Amino acid sequence: MQKAAILNIIYDRYDEWARQFAVVCRPSCRTCCTRNVTMTTVEGEEILRYALRQGLEKWLGEALNSTVETAPPPVTTNQFAAACLAGQEIEPEWPANQAPCPVLADDLCRIYTVRPFACRLFVSSQRCRLDGAAVMPAAYTGVVSAICQLIEHLGQRQYWGNMADILLALVTRPGYEKIAYFVAPEKITAARNRLLVAEPLPGFLLDEREAALAAPLFNAIFHSEAGGKTVETILNGG
Ligand code: SF4
Repeated sequence: MQKAAILNIIYDRYDEWARQFAVVCRPSCRTCCTRNVTMTTVEGEEILRYALRQGLEKWLGEALNSTVETAPPPVTTNQFAAACLAGQEIEPEWPANQAPCPVLADDLCRIYTVRPFACRLFVSSQRCRLDGAAVMPAAYTGVVSAICQLIEHLGQRQYWGNMADILLALVTRPGYEKIAYFVAPEKITAARNRLLVAEPLPGFLLDEREAALAAPLFNAIFHSEAGGKTVETILNGG
């Protein structure tokens, strides 16, 4: 549970830091809620535990069972960063599946409290239409990409990939039987085959402006404590 504690510290410190930006995102605004969201195992476990606490086993199992299949992301965030830091030319093609996210119901997120970081980071300073793009604050994208790297580092050697695929892959673990009951075994096998493995942090890709914007957020995260140790110590393997 130490990883879950660190994940929630990252979410909380991010929420505090992100209050400086004026965003227009509101409930029922579902433009970015597609099948393309990626995450880690530690974020998936958080969602599955929430579903059990809320009595959403049947609803989530059926939603995952009926979700459309989508092509997997080509590389993890840390694999992409490692290639860039090694000077490799890399332009991965990201799948663009606009099918709705499986946990969207009546235009609302049913797991909003525990939504993964990829959903939290997606903000816009202007209303975006279904065919429009979000407008993010200057230097913001670089900072939140670095946080994605940190969360991948936290979940290293575990699954990394599309949110629905990770949830499907995890439901056969002990404790989630009431969710797995509603999912076809072949759906789980296919989802597992689309997943990548989370990698350790190879370094960040921040430019000077992004590093200055990121500094207070990283300081707040690294100096927070979980189980009597700082997050920085834990993430460094201490
Ligand atoms: S998890 Fe929630 S916030 Fe994220 S894409 Fe799905 S419905 Fe939207």
